[in-house]
Amino acid sequence: MPRTVALEKVRNIGIMAHIDAGKTTTSERILFYSGKIHKIGEVHDGAATMDSMVQEQERGITIMSAATTVDWKSYRISLIDTPGHVDFTAEVERSLRVLDGAVALFCAVGGVQPQSEQVWRQSEKYNVPKIAMVNKMDRIGADFFAVLEGIKNVLGGNPVAMVCPIGAEENFEGIVDLLTMKAIKFDMKTLGKTEIMEEIPEHLREKCKQLRHELVEKAAEQDDALLEKYLGGEELTIEEIKGAIRKGTIARKLVPAYCGSAFKDKGIQPMLDAVCDYLPSPLDIGDVVSADDPDKIRKPDDNEPFCGLAFKIVSDKHMGKLTYVRVYSGVLKLGEEVYNSTMKQSARIGRLFRMHANRQEALEEAYAGDIVAVVGLTRTRTGDTLCDRAHPITLESIDFPAPVISVSIKPESRGENEKLGNALYALAQEDPTFVVKFDQETSETVISGMGELHLQIIVDRLKREFNVACTVGAPEVAYRETIRMKSEGEYKHVKQTGGRGQYAHVCLRLEPQDPGMGFSFVNEVKGGVIPNEYIPAVEKGVIRAMESGPYAGYPVVDVKVTVYFGSYHEVDSNEFAFIECARQCFKQLFLRGNPQLLEPMMNVEVSVPPDQMGAATGSLCQRRGRVEGMEDKGGSKLVHGMVPLSEMFGYSNTIRTLTQGRGTYTMIFAHYEGVPFELTEKIIEKRKKEGKVR
Ligand code: GDP
Repeated sequence: MPRTVALEKVRNIGIMAHIDAGKTTTSERILFYSGKIHKIGEVHDGAATMDSMVQEQERGITIMSAATTVDWKSYRISLIDTPGHVDFTAEVERSLRVLDGAVALFCAVGGVQPQSEQVWRQSEKYNVPKIAMVNKMDRIGADFFAVLEGIKNVLGGNPVAMVCPIGAEENFEGIVDLLTMKAIKFDMKTLGKTEIMEEIPEHLREKCKQLRHELVEKAAEQDDALLEKYLGGEELTIEEIKGAIRKGTIARKLVPAYCGSAFKDKGIQPMLDAVCDYLPSPLDIGDVVSADDPDKIRKPDDNEPFCGLAFKIVSDKHMGKLTYVRVYSGVLKLGEEVYNSTMKQSARIGRLFRMHANRQEALEEAYAGDIVAVVGLTRTRTGDTLCDRAHPITLESIDFPAPVISVSIKPESRGENEKLGNALYALAQEDPTFVVKFDQETSETVISGMGELHLQIIVDRLKREFNVACTVGAPEVAYRETIRMKSEGEYKHVKQTGGRGQYAHVCLRLEPQDPGMGFSFVNEVKGGVIPNEYIPAVEKGVIRAMESGPYAGYPVVDVKVTVYFGSYHEVDSNEFAFIECARQCFKQLFLRGNPQLLEPMMNVEVSVPPDQMGAATGSLCQRRGRVEGMEDKGGSKLVHGMVPLSEMFGYSNTIRTLTQGRGTYTMIFAHYEGVPFELTEKIIEKRKKEGKVR
């Protein structure tokens, strides 16, 4: 079947919002108005369709991104779900990577909140054009124009009011479309599906005229020819204004702003029209570029060789492993082979789907700009590039931060270890920031993630989706270890008494690498003093030693290891001997390299009433934190700081007590830093007692 929707009519968008701003309700309304669902499932009934996972409904937050496609007028809109909680920033980043535009959703009362700032900044990093939607206009204290001020002053955006609310709070009736200067009301008999056009109410006429004047001015500024016409005193046509607003939005110079109440079925349809009118199509986004060759590009065109990015993996009860793919160029065909250029492997497209709210549409082909789910890509991971084998290209992968917090986990009932293992494996496949490790020596399974809530949700899912109830230990910080000095030397692994012996001899050089560089292994052995066949064993031994570092039993990072000399024995050398030899050699040299323990540092933002600012800064300093800035925000004080994660456990209680419940905070992983020496000693002592340093 050929393409049915022209590429310029495709919109791949996300709704970015602070928790509780109404994203789920708004998404539901979108599905309803576009005809994909027939009954509106209220969030508070727990019947929302987008939130397919039970515990998301219970918590009322959206965690996993699913991509749901709807048809709106002659357009096709794919909604890529982005989570609202900072613990899931990796989820936010991955969805921002594949969407072309976003609706930034705000609460008309809460306005710009710390977490909306976070997501806004991330979206700027990925150059995502946005429109703003101010929801909950029916709530007491709702103020559309105050939120626009917040977008301007706090987020540095340039909002342009495209509508003017008619009434507010319980008298919120509809909006005035400032382009056509018509009032739009929503017929409640059809749950807002029918839009009723009316004249602007008398008392709003002057205000709307003024707002339209500002809108036209901002539009004219986007285009020199229009500006000239406008300054010459000529009227701009609606089409001209729309064209200019579109241009400004895509260039991220303007943010068209709308308002409504998802809950009261008002204002959602004009917002959908705006998605089509002002947010970019894949054509506007343009070419994608290879990660390693800036000259290698793919155009958003069905006639180009196929390339796409796997951005989300979900294990589905019925279909197995589903890989969500954004197609950037060419055509993806059912039954054909695709090449995973990141893994350097081929795989066959077993089944191909477009995901709708309540059904999956089986496809034969997917085209440039499409977002689809594929069955059959068993080995593909999040961030991998898929492409035409004859025309390989590798796109930039998706960066995921390393997990910073761990807990030990075990099933409540004995005999369920295997079930737990399988469930954890499936969850880790879905979520690159969730890591599972089994510690052979302590027989403990340890799970790690991006925050306490992240791990709590995993434990919830284990119970609900996989039927394994678990108990977990106390959360622990995911420390790392590294060295600060070069160190080199040799080790001999020799056991040659009686029978067949063991012989291996290696010389290694360990050097510190810049933070974030990870591990590299170099072979400088000359003349076969260690035969080539044993070199991989040497690397394996080093990697094994690094998994549980010699200093405190934490993973080793940022070292370069070079093997430069050694020897072997014709009969007694084997792979095992070299693995063991390299492992011991690494351990000894590491301890001689001035080792250091590293800890995750968190960017913390505390918002408190002005008279509590001293208490807030004090609470960060007491936690070995650095206060990095303070600012006024909407009657509160905002304190920015950098604090070690290990000191932040229980902080929500502290801040609540300090401020009688009026303070809030957010935190997000920033980077790793060295742990002060006195503390390091304590940690090592504790780890030794627990038998974790070997
Ligand atoms: P999410 O966390 O952003 O997905 O927000 P939800 O859609 O779950 O909404 C959070 C709460 O706000 C729910 O109780 C909704 O019923 C309510 N809500 C959503 N939209 C509106 C609105 O327009 N007006 C009012 N008054 N409440 C709303």
